[in-house]
Amino acid sequence: MDDVERIVYKHALLNAAKHKGYANPGAVMGSIMSQEVELRAKAKEINQVLPDIVKNINDMGIEEVEEEIKSLGLAIEEKKQVKQTGLGELPGSHDNVVMRFAPNPSGPLHIGHARAAIPNNEYVKKYNGKLILRIEDTDPKRVYEPAYEMILEDLKWLGFNTDEIYYQSDRFEIYYEYARKLIELNEAYMCTCDGGDFKKLKDASKSCPCRDNSIDKNLEMWDNFDNMDEGDAVLRVKTDINHKNPAIRDWVAMRIVTEPHPRLGNKYKIYPMMNFSVAIDDHLMELSHVLRGKDHLANSEKQKYLYNHFNWDIPEFIHYGRLKMEDIPLSTSKALEGIENGTYMGWDDPRLGTLRAIAKRGIQAETITELIKEIGIKMSDSAISWKKIYGLNRNILEEKANRYFFVPDPIKIKIADYNELDEIKRPLHADYEDRGNRTLTFNGEAYIPKADFTNGISRLMDAVNIDIDANSVKFNSKSFDEAREAKARIIQWVPATDNVKAEIVMDDASIVEGLCEPDCKNLNIGDIVQFERFGFARLDEKKEDKLVFFFAHK
Ligand code: GLU
Repeated sequence: MDDVERIVYKHALLNAAKHKGYANPGAVMGSIMSQEVELRAKAKEINQVLPDIVKNINDMGIEEVEEEIKSLGLAIEEKKQVKQTGLGELPGSHDNVVMRFAPNPSGPLHIGHARAAIPNNEYVKKYNGKLILRIEDTDPKRVYEPAYEMILEDLKWLGFNTDEIYYQSDRFEIYYEYARKLIELNEAYMCTCDGGDFKKLKDASKSCPCRDNSIDKNLEMWDNFDNMDEGDAVLRVKTDINHKNPAIRDWVAMRIVTEPHPRLGNKYKIYPMMNFSVAIDDHLMELSHVLRGKDHLANSEKQKYLYNHFNWDIPEFIHYGRLKMEDIPLSTSKALEGIENGTYMGWDDPRLGTLRAIAKRGIQAETITELIKEIGIKMSDSAISWKKIYGLNRNILEEKANRYFFVPDPIKIKIADYNELDEIKRPLHADYEDRGNRTLTFNGEAYIPKADFTNGISRLMDAVNIDIDANSVKFNSKSFDEAREAKARIIQWVPATDNVKAEIVMDDASIVEGLCEPDCKNLNIGDIVQFERFGFARLDEKKEDKLVFFFAHK
């Protein structure tokens, strides 16, 4: 065996060991090209010996392959360990796990919501529990009507299997019933104090005069609540007026809201506050575990008073740390403002961190799930960035995406006196030969990226080596070896006559116009491709005259 053969033999053996004794020629070539730098110029030579070597190895059987590897002193690459997820066991009982995702419909879901949603979904799957989606729309100011539909779409994209869906705006009568019960238990009172006066008293750990009202008086006022105006009165839950956190002292359970509600119009005036409706629902829906951000720690504390007043079991409250987004804009109100003033093209603008923007770019739901699982539900804060997301996504797309040529900002070249017609076949994916080839024809005329139109020798990938000299383009040679020797740069091209117009919407929303190879016509909307040397992109639209892609990442 000469040196080249020995190296091919080694890579073929290792590849066979990874695949039950059967090496894949494409994968062997790929591993040689990526690991044996000095052999990169010898592709032709390798190709001559590779098929026989692979065949011999594939005839050996796995045991002999492993023996051979051992005798050569090589190490078999361990199968990648299944990544340990950051989601450990849930505390408490796992018998009747009921969890929920409870977003406010203030906009479509973004990565921050995914952080709240995914662990619930994963745990419910793990413990065979029940997953509830609860739309928390009890504050008309925080309801963006299209979000009702968008949230369902976003969760579908994430692959959620929701068992039950509730809208809190359907449940006002239930909240009223429990408010009344709480008054009857003498654990809530109608308070007519001016907000500022109440705060002063509360901050000094003093009860307001309303706290001493009789149950009957409170019930009478409660029944008359509907005739009051915003600010006239609130219903307060009795807590500990000496609680070390003043925010927890006698918090508001119910208030008057006169602003019409997108789903309810003016049907109700008495609105529950978040802590009241959340606790009542979590109890009635039999939540076993409540996962929420640590910014809700004081809320959990407030809610515990309700559980105790009603003598209810408290679910396991689990608080997780903040998710810092290094470079991902997430504020729903800023996004909406930008959409309304035309800065963003919509909720799926590639600059936004909404799930629909991410999906449009070809970032996979699986990527987001992995990312969130890795972060887990620990109390300490975590940071994420696009870089991290791209890295995880690339792992998935490398295998999924077929390869094509794309020529940004194209310029036409014509090789003088080129009289051949070459049919060039390139695999759709070098590691998956069964996916077949794409075909490009080369007749001496092509489009190349304008940026690559520079003096010197260049190789049109898999076609010819050309010599560019100011305004003339001459044929230089044909082989890859000659290109190597001439240190030619390798450039993308598409045939001059047979190509498809394409535009790629980049991550900063700028648009790169160009041409892609003819086989791109066969792509379907939603397909993700890797444009060689350009990056991954998802086909979003097939216009009459061009294909529109959204760029994912390099
Ligand atoms: N709708 C609330 C929120 O999204 C839910 C809070 C909770 O998990 O209890 O902030």
